[in-house]
Amino acid sequence: MTDTTTCATWRRALVTGGAGFIGSHLCEQLLNAGTEVDCADNLLSGARANVAHLQGRPGFRFVECDVCAPDATGRLAGPYDLVLHFACPASPADYLRLPLETLDAGSLGTRAMLAVAERDGARFLLASTSEVYGDPLEHPQREDYWGNVNPVGPRSVYDESKRFAEALVTAHVRTKDADAGIVRLFNTYGPRMRAHDGRVVPTFVCQALAGASLTVAGDGSQTRSLCYVDDIVDGILLVAASRSVRPVNLGGTDEVTVREIASRIVELTGSSSRIEFVDRPADDPRRRRPDTALARELLGWTPRVPWEEGIKQTIAHFAARPVPEPAPRV
Ligand code: UDP
Repeated sequence: MTDTTTCATWRRALVTGGAGFIGSHLCEQLLNAGTEVDCADNLLSGARANVAHLQGRPGFRFVECDVCAPDATGRLAGPYDLVLHFACPASPADYLRLPLETLDAGSLGTRAMLAVAERDGARFLLASTSEVYGDPLEHPQREDYWGNVNPVGPRSVYDESKRFAEALVTAHVRTKDADAGIVRLFNTYGPRMRAHDGRVVPTFVCQALAGASLTVAGDGSQTRSLCYVDDIVDGILLVAASRSVRPVNLGGTDEVTVREIASRIVELTGSSSRIEFVDRPADDPRRRRPDTALARELLGWTPRVPWEEGIKQTIAHFAARPVPEPAPRV
């Protein structure tokens, strides 16, 4: 876990999307380091349960708030010295279901949260994504690659929302000398993902625990580089503390096929589930792996949690809960 000195410099932080998967881990880590935390979330894809264990801890406050609402900046009164803008539907299933909300979170929401940071003279950090690279034609993806995004494809609501958000942050740095950075997060997994958020790890883990077939999209040869949430949170807080204004990739370094992910989850759960091949979503990226040299050189960051360990923690998280009904097919 993060060395507490990483976030000890912050007195009071705002985490938007703080009741989401990554946001809730950030809130916890900041509190552990002695930072007061306002956790803002409209609960569209986040859940109060993710921060229930933080309620009552000194310095923690939950604000049910939509970052795009006209009164958001007033309700998030601060003053803050750190603003982590993580509010946005992030799973393909969520952003396909909530296209306009997704576009608003990146545009209106980012604009408003940059205004909060400017008001308070706070460091600002945008949660961006590997999706800014689209279906990449360069491999692995370095921060200076511009990407291959279909601007009118179904995923564009997320990809272009984050690309626009990056442009907004960069304009604030250029024209207002804002202290603002960008993290591009690659596929992150771990406890507190929603069983039915549609992403590959929770879907396969829950299917395996239920003894249901694992729904591998296409022939399962597409790749992802998975990173455990504790490593991602460490990286995010290091970028926040670094004052870097350049986008920084954070993600796993081992590239695996979706088919391998399925078989390893079946193995580690001891399940008798079979694999079922289903249609591959439109514009599903074929290969994805971050070049993390910048994070290594700038911050000394590299992921530390081995896949077996991370996936065991994730399986334990879901196994401790009632096995969910299989998700409805979209
Ligand atoms: N995937 C799959 N079966 C599922 C869910 C996802 O085969 O039930 C595939 C998906 O098509 C993609 C990869 O797993 O190729 C990662 O998908 P995810 O939604 O987790 O994240 P993405 O990287 O696409 O944002």
